Amino acid sequence: MSKVKVGVVGYGTIGQRLADGAVLQDDLDLVGIVDVAPTLGLRALHEAGMPYDLYLVDPARKPEFDAIGIPVAGSFEDLLGQIDVALDATPGGVGAKNKEIYRKHGVKGIFQGGEKNEIADVFFHGYANYDKGLGRDFLKLTSCNTTGLIRAVDAIDREVGVEKVAITIVRRVADPGDIHRGLVDTLMIDSVPNHQALDLMTIMPHVDATGFLVHTPVTHGHIITIMATPKKSISKESLLDTFRAHPRVRVVRIADGFCSNTSLFKYARDLGNKRGDMYEIAVWDECIGFSGKDILFAINIPQEAVVIPETIDGVRASMQMQTDRLEAVGLTNGYLGMVAGR
Ligand code: NAD
Repeated sequence: MSKVKVGVVGYGTIGQRLADGAVLQDDLDLVGIVDVAPTLGLRALHEAGMPYDLYLVDPARKPEFDAIGIPVAGSFEDLLGQIDVALDATPGGVGAKNKEIYRKHGVKGIFQGGEKNEIADVFFHGYANYDKGLGRDFLKLTSCNTTGLIRAVDAIDREVGVEKVAITIVRRVADPGDIHRGLVDTLMIDSVPNHQALDLMTIMPHVDATGFLVHTPVTHGHIITIMATPKKSISKESLLDTFRAHPRVRVVRIADGFCSNTSLFKYARDLGNKRGDMYEIAVWDECIGFSGKDILFAINIPQEAVVIPETIDGVRASMQMQTDRLEAVGLTNGYLGMVAGR
């Protein structure tokens, strides 16, 4: 099979990481990236040797790029004439407008969590509902929190079944550098249920879910606590085995020094991971507890990178590159260097 041709639309926090993740897949060809302005991300890419061809939404802005020497390969529509799938990582709401342009060019679209669910044929998660995405033209990925949450709940669900979950999300309020979010010192609470619980029920309708969300003035990762009611009792060791067997879950210990969201970020930097990214969610060994047969545990969500694997799964499903869920997610994992047992 020839390589599936993809383009990344919106080279921001998620788009940068989607582009890097796509080029690591041997069976995908990243034709180019699209943006509107000479952002810091594009300036850094240019200073790093401009490995990706850049296409502009508004070609009238090309002189701004010429002035600082950033080469432009063409227009957004030029790129759409060359690709099979657009990985749309524009700010929430822009994707809805782009969808009509994708449709006009016969290009499939994979949207991120900031878009409304109605944008897509399927609200998609590579592990939980891969089959539903098969051959569909427009998929929407879950948000960062929901992606990690569903990874963990789906793993337990496939092992022993899950009846219900109650979650509390401690949500980082901004990405590093997002000064437009304000310089704040406050904890802001949302009403129950949070959208992540509702999203989980959309993708896993057999699980009853609800939860709180607390916005916190930090930038490196969310933490979610989950109280899950399994259909069958499961021991701590079996639960740990389930998580260790999942290539997108990393089991860590406070005793080893993983005592915070930032210890995971620092560890990713020490691993030499580009931008300090980590694709895996982390589960804390010492934070697994029980109330009767109900399981209490906590996960760390590296919000900037966590959705990259499931988005690439979306390309595989949409293009029917693999019809088997585990074969598909296994290929994504392999190309991104994720292995079980970390
Ligand atoms: P961002 O603001 O970091 O990046 C958006 C990029 O799109 C910018 O480079 C901007 O210049 C560009 N852009 C703006 N309008 C455009 C247009 N019309 N066409 C092409 N490019 C355009 O945004 P982000 O944080 O990467 O978020 C993108 C999507 O991913 C949103 O749906 C968001 O909800 C979702 N998401 C974000 C995170 C996160 O942690 N930041 C995590 C998961 C999902």
